[in-house]
Amino acid sequence: MSVLPAGKPLARFLPDLDDLLHDPLAYLRQGPLPIGPRRMYGLAALFTLPGTALALSALRGDGDALERLAVGLALLVGASVWLLWSLLLRGHSLVLHPEGVEVRHGGTAVWCPWALFNAEGDPFVPQTDSPRLGLTLPIWREAIPFVELRRNEAAVAHGAQVSARQFHFVGSEAVVLPARYEVVAADLGHLLLQLGRRLGRELPRGSPPREAADLAALGEVPTELDPTGRLTVPLFRLTFPPVCCDCGQPTGLSMSLYAEPFGSRLAGLAAREGRPLTVDIPVCEVCQHRLRAQVHRGGTLGMAAGAGLGAIAALALTGVQGALLLPALIGGLAGGGLLGFLIGTTAADRRPVRVGRYSPSQGTVSLSFRNPDYAALVVEAMRSRAQRTG
Ligand SMILES: [Zn+2]
Repeated sequence: MSVLPAGKPLARFLPDLDDLLHDPLAYLRQGPLPIGPRRMYGLAALFTLPGTALALSALRGDGDALERLAVGLALLVGASVWLLWSLLLRGHSLVLHPEGVEVRHGGTAVWCPWALFNAEGDPFVPQTDSPRLGLTLPIWREAIPFVELRRNEAAVAHGAQVSARQFHFVGSEAVVLPARYEVVAADLGHLLLQLGRRLGRELPRGSPPREAADLAALGEVPTELDPTGRLTVPLFRLTFPPVCCDCGQPTGLSMSLYAEPFGSRLAGLAAREGRPLTVDIPVCEVCQHRLRAQVHRGGTLGMAAGAGLGAIAALALTGVQGALLLPALIGGLAGGGLLGFLIGTTAADRRPVRVGRYSPSQGTVSLSFRNPDYAALVVEAMRSRAQRTG
């Protein structure tokens, strides 16, 4: 369950969404469309009132005072979390114009021409309660030089040099908009990409300063295997060819693997940074069956071996006699068996792929495939997806 309210679905936020989608240029020419930050003041107030009442009533000290105090305090803690988040998100907004979108925070705005969002791929929204991890969007790299950071309406940084609290590049592949807006993040991401593809087919006119085009300054998100055979991929571009990643046979089946957030210390303030990422990777029926059988066999062998060793240890410790023999034997069998089972299943769990180093803030994850041919297929699929971009 998420603690952070999800925001409004786009269709509810914008009752005339159909008009916008029908003719975005005409719609936006009628006036800019602002999208504010997510506000949770109402929710905070809703919890503060009963929380305070319960906590105060507990002061009388009668009957179930302790329980009322506990519930009251819990409500007040919830209220303060929402109040804090609302305050943190204050000053963030997006403003949609006919030529592009402004990503505002306080006195600064990052200006993005629509061409920036004329990109192939899907928005990536991390499953997390941090108010500082919003939305990752693929971008058209040719449009990067036209991005501007403006302070009090004057441009203070261009293109690759732009980095702000409300906007930063991930290599030259993507941008992260870390704030949470009043519209559901995935809806907002799809809207920006859709408008980018329709209104941003051409680059803006003009020639930005030279440093704006210095894309090397942004670094790159690698789309090739590192020396250890690991592939770090941006999630918005992740795509798997529909063949088994182990044996290479065509398949429609997949296995769900989980990756815990990595380096999430950087990402936010709450202790609960983010939830694991689920990645569904094609594995055929035969290989799934083999994997399950392997794990089962490993567990059985491990349990037998562990129980045997446990029993031998019990016999040795008690000198094969005395009152302690029976309990020691039972303990040795059970404890050794359990330990052996755990070791056996873990050792036998040789998955065709390992998933790790999931970074919710960058929107990347690492994959190591056992089958190098499949790793090459994934690299190829992602490259062709990247080339279609822009
Ligand atoms: Zn297979």
